[in-house]
Amino acid sequence: MNDNNASPSPASAAAAAAPAAQVVSLYQARKKIYARAVTGRFNQWRWLFVWLTQLAFYGLPWINWGERQALLFELVSRRFYIFGLVFYPQDLIYLSALLMVSAYALFLFTAVAGRLWCGYACPQTVYSEVFMWVERVFEGDRSARMKLDDAPMSGAKALRKGGKHVAWVLLALWTGFTFVGYFTPIRTLAGEVMANALGPWQTFWVLFYGFATYLNAGFMREQICKYVCPYARFQSAMFDKDTLIITYDAERGEPRGARSRKIDPKSKGLGDCTDCGLCVQVCPTGIDIRKGLQYECIGCAACVDACDGVMDRMGYARGLVRYDTENGLAQHLSRGQEVRRVLRPRVLVYTSVLVIIVGAVATSIALRSPFKVDIVRDRASLARIVDDGFVENVYRLQLMNATESVQSYAVSADGLPGLEMPGAKTMTLGPAEARWITVALRVPPQTAASTKPGAHEIHFTVERQSQAGDSSRSLREKSTFVLPR
Ligand code: SF4
Ligand code: SF4
Repeated sequence: MNDNNASPSPASAAAAAAPAAQVVSLYQARKKIYARAVTGRFNQWRWLFVWLTQLAFYGLPWINWGERQALLFELVSRRFYIFGLVFYPQDLIYLSALLMVSAYALFLFTAVAGRLWCGYACPQTVYSEVFMWVERVFEGDRSARMKLDDAPMSGAKALRKGGKHVAWVLLALWTGFTFVGYFTPIRTLAGEVMANALGPWQTFWVLFYGFATYLNAGFMREQICKYVCPYARFQSAMFDKDTLIITYDAERGEPRGARSRKIDPKSKGLGDCTDCGLCVQVCPTGIDIRKGLQYECIGCAACVDACDGVMDRMGYARGLVRYDTENGLAQHLSRGQEVRRVLRPRVLVYTSVLVIIVGAVATSIALRSPFKVDIVRDRASLARIVDDGFVENVYRLQLMNATESVQSYAVSADGLPGLEMPGAKTMTLGPAEARWITVALRVPPQTAASTKPGAHEIHFTVERQSQAGDSSRSLREKSTFVLPR
């Protein structure tokens, strides 16, 4: 029986009406960004910061302070040298303070001027800028690079691509070497590299840091900002309508459209945007600022420079794309009015906290003791009876000289009648030297008999001796003396 004439069942009718299934990928394939080179005043600022930060990064490890490297975080000996200061792991509080200062400074700058850090000083931006410059040297600007990528492999293409990668690898290795030079004396490190005698850990870190630089600045670029950096995610929490951001003045620019330089755009019903697309072509994250503020925007102002160039060529006023605030744009505020709005509660709170922390850290560093003492009781024996019925407790003292000269220290203790310290009471430490010493304290039998058994509070006093033999500074540390039952 031919069932072509049979009426369709409800199930098959529903199936026919259902839309065709579609497979949607949850991962968007990356579109390679060919950022165009740009010139302009903000580009000059960015390159100034590239020079300053890189001169500091590559140059600082080579500066000496007396006999040693000025900036050295020696992990093996656990000494951290910052010019004239010597820090020990016990000074970790300063690292916490530094992190707090960095965080509050970032909050403050972000609240006032948006992603200034990202656009001008972040290592990801700076290294990407340098790597892109190398890329341009070997492969040319945007259109030349696009053409080269589309072209089949040839000797010339291999030479250009190969040259770029060799330059990138050398730059990345130099960066890795410099990074390790902050933790191992860089001159020693250079000697070891020359002699092919680099240790396994140093080799690992030079290669690891170098590889991270090569990967992040050569290939990942904007993806680090978009997908890896947490700051990109939470910076919007610090923004408000008076924060300086990169904006497109849609009121002035729209309706956009191509036109000749000679015509008056108003006569054609056009705004100032010529729809040339240059602001998109120069953007290192590949976004269109004309769509409004987007989290991908790192605030580099390349689009501002590009658009200002177009405005100059067209004979229009600069600033179609510019640094402005949301309120400034909406309410047509003057620069003076915007500047007055900088002093708002959140900015004042960030500034006050920052000033307090910086003041506290500076005072603490200025007043910090030039030596440190750690005292631990000998855990092997709490107390023991020695000659003539004296009761003895043993302690381990760690003395740390936080200066760069030889120092002598006198150790004493008090807290119980007749408490005495047999043996040497003074010691000499070399520059930045730390040493553990064993110290015994004793009380006479009369004290042991007249004092109730148990732990009693005592104090150690460590006095630094000046050259003339006078004590010039002292530290008092609490400990306990145990009397047996
Ligand atoms: S939109 Fe402009 S400021 Fe933002 S990342 Fe792109 S070029 Fe830089
Ligand atoms: S560079 Fe300026 S004029 Fe050209 S498309 Fe962008 S906003 Fe419009």
